[in-house]
Amino acid sequence: MRKKIVAGNWKMNLDRNQALQLVRQVIRSKSNGTVNVIFSPSFLYLQEISNLCRDVTGFSVSAQDCHHLDSGAYTGEVSASMIKSSGAEHVILGHSERRMHNQESNLILKDKVDVALDNELSVIFCCGENLSEREDGSHFACVSNQLKQSIFHLSSANFANIIIAYEPIWAIGTGRTASPEQAQEMHAFIRSLLADNYNVELAESTSILYGGSCNPSNSFSLFSQPDIDGGLIGGASLDYSSFLSIIDSF
Ligand code: PEP
Repeated sequence: MRKKIVAGNWKMNLDRNQALQLVRQVIRSKSNGTVNVIFSPSFLYLQEISNLCRDVTGFSVSAQDCHHLDSGAYTGEVSASMIKSSGAEHVILGHSERRMHNQESNLILKDKVDVALDNELSVIFCCGENLSEREDGSHFACVSNQLKQSIFHLSSANFANIIIAYEPIWAIGTGRTASPEQAQEMHAFIRSLLADNYNVELAESTSILYGGSCNPSNSFSLFSQPDIDGGLIGGASLDYSSFLSIIDSF
């Protein structure tokens, strides 16, 4: 059985009080015991939020990025070992905003994935095409290339710590969601790539999340698709009631 996951990527939003309050509210109210909820706050609050989640089943914490080296003279950067020592269990890598604003290539992401796994973090690896790739039909090739260059060098054993998030760039923060059929089609494609490059068992056990303007009114239809195992949620995860409705839509 694949894990069902709803991860809230808070990006550069929420101050410390807002972040802690939101975590406490969600922990108090979550009713669906089968969903794993992941909070992804600023680095600054990883430790405190990890402490809040430590003894509560079904909650864990993710960083939003890590450096591709383990330590060194890189002012302002945060390493995977630092994240691990904060108590966080996951790191989001390959988010389209970092690919775009920080010029993160598939090859640098490969190094980030390796250093994260070496430090026993699980990786939420984001992939997804832009609008012109969707329109010219090269979206499957784009996603396949991202996975091949950044994660398909991993061993089968490593995949126990990989969660894939399909996030079409044209749907992120735009209010334009992929239809359940479009998302399912890509998720099934990603699963077939996993089966071809590894094996069917690994493909069937890897969680693949959808991200891109997911909200309480579309989460149920998205999560009902056979290959969609949950969501990576941006804007709608900042509000307690919408994040909770998305979690409970499973
Ligand atoms: C994201 O940035 O990962 C995301 C899915 O954002 P939004 O839900 O706001 O589109």
